[in-house]
Amino acid sequence: MSCSPALATAAGQNRNINRSEKSMNIQTRGIILKQIKLMNDRRMLMMFSEEKGKISVSASQAGSGKKRAALAYRPFTLGRYELYRAREIYSIQKAETLRSYFSIGEDIDKYLYASYALEFTEKLLPEEAPAPGLFSLLTEFFSILEKRPGEYLFLVRAYQLKAIQCCGYGPSLSGCVICGKPVEDGCFSVKAGGLVCPSCRQDIGLILQVGSDIIEKIKYILKTPLKKIGKLYLDQASLKAISQLILQYLAYHMDIRDLKSEAFLSTDPSGAERK
Ligand SMILES: [Zn+2]
Repeated sequence: MSCSPALATAAGQNRNINRSEKSMNIQTRGIILKQIKLMNDRRMLMMFSEEKGKISVSASQAGSGKKRAALAYRPFTLGRYELYRAREIYSIQKAETLRSYFSIGEDIDKYLYASYALEFTEKLLPEEAPAPGLFSLLTEFFSILEKRPGEYLFLVRAYQLKAIQCCGYGPSLSGCVICGKPVEDGCFSVKAGGLVCPSCRQDIGLILQVGSDIIEKIKYILKTPLKKIGKLYLDQASLKAISQLILQYLAYHMDIRDLKSEAFLSTDPSGAERK
């Protein structure tokens, strides 16, 4: 699976695009990351499109009503879209719902964790850089979250780790990130972006003594398909340590911090404690 936005194939970009000098039509699958309401009942949608990555899209119809097609204008839906691009602005010509993950919206905990995952994804993605691997991962995450009976935080953290890796920003865990020597005690430098050995860690800040058992768990998460992780559960101490590492890593390297939806997670631990 090709995950890096930079590796997205030119063929993939060109396959469904009819180009002219000033405008073009694009057929793409997509997921709505968020809606921004404007005046006169107009909305802008932030879309994660399979073909073009994260794009802002104007939607004059706004997908009002309860019809199935209207779901394609809302989050937690996989849609197929016909987009028209003129003067740097995309607008939706046609929208069709391919799959609605409607049960996420029927469970408040699932809804909060899924909202957090969407907000994180929106921050992680650069504008207009295709990320087909992350697109697949996000749809997989929705499917698994729908079926999972509890402890959603572990699934979300696994999704975040894989998403970071998918975009080419994954932590270095195979040895000291600076000199390459083996690191036995699981000492992790947020600043250096990976494990650090005793001699290299002297001059580096933001050190976390996470322990080798936690590092092994992170390695396992990174190499195991999300589908399999969706059936696993993690003890609370490990989940807390992994969460701390991820949050500090995201804040330092990607400037992703203080997500609006995050506040709801910390005040509502039920998703993390349920078995
Ligand atoms: Zn070293």
